[in-house]
Amino acid sequence: MSDLHRRSFMTALAAVGGALPLAARARAVPQKDAATIVSTWDFGAAANAVAFARLKAGGSLLDAVEAGAMVPEADPTNHSVGLGGYPDRDGHVTLDAVIMDDAGGVGAVAALEDTVHAISVARRVMEKTPHTFLVGEGATRFARDQGFPQQSLLTPDAEKAWRDWLKTADYRPEANIENRRPLGDARDHDTIGILARNAGGRLAGACTTSGMAFKMRGRVGDSPQVGSGLFVERGVGGATSTGVGEEVTRIAGTARVVASMRAGRSPQAACEEVVRHIAQLRGDAIRGMQVGFLAIDPAGRVGAFCLLPGFTYAVTDAAGRTVVHPAASLFKS
Ligand code: ASP
Repeated sequence: MSDLHRRSFMTALAAVGGALPLAARARAVPQKDAATIVSTWDFGAAANAVAFARLKAGGSLLDAVEAGAMVPEADPTNHSVGLGGYPDRDGHVTLDAVIMDDAGGVGAVAALEDTVHAISVARRVMEKTPHTFLVGEGATRFARDQGFPQQSLLTPDAEKAWRDWLKTADYRPEANIENRRPLGDARDHDTIGILARNAGGRLAGACTTSGMAFKMRGRVGDSPQVGSGLFVERGVGGATSTGVGEEVTRIAGTARVVASMRAGRSPQAACEEVVRHIAQLRGDAIRGMQVGFLAIDPAGRVGAFCLLPGFTYAVTDAAGRTVVHPAASLFKS
């Protein structure tokens, strides 16, 4: 690069920095009750506790969100994340995960098999490869080559649920397998999205899942896709999603939430805008489906909104106190 080019490149970079919306910069002033860690669903409280402890021990934001995401990944009773996740319709448990900081760092894996901690493999993709996203056999081989312990992720419980499902093999995105409760319900859709913020307003996030139970082999949902399952932008905010991934992916849901915050909306107003957009765009096609967004800004303001009642999220403040909240929903049932 010539000096002239370098100078104009630096000027352009400075201009980009200077172009941060005023509203976003104002939000960097921490507020009373500012959140430090937020995550999806009520079991997120346990993940937040581990993430918070990691921060307190001097860990980075990435260390914190990774450690938090690992909690449900290791829990065999959680049937939508990591070990014990429900398999695809061919009986394979496949994991999707993404990790992201607010300085352009991104790593993701999809359709990963045989490694419990997909989030750690995603981080390894970010830190050890020239790429941002590895999938399928390549991701599985990378994890093995990196020394991650290999094991079957299909627990007896999950295998039994799959064999029961095979009797009808009825995959209906509007309803779950057992009793037609909304797909994306906490009981069988517990993807964890977790966002962490430090006192300087810097942000990082992680999202990890085994995806929709009994999905087609090869199906990848929103969770590992930057801008769908997770998006983080310095000086603006971060967002994560859960629920029926196809409905998030088709509109790049979390990129939209963050764009809405960039335009000056609060995290709450941004989540509401995007949920309403899905409803308007999809009409009857999303009847009975759950989608939820959770967002945080650099000042620690939090927002959450979903299509149907039932989505909860855990908020941990700077003192380490955690409260689980029900998110407001667009529809009543
Ligand atoms: N969003 C996830 C997916 O579609 C599922 C979930 O949140 O439970 O893969």
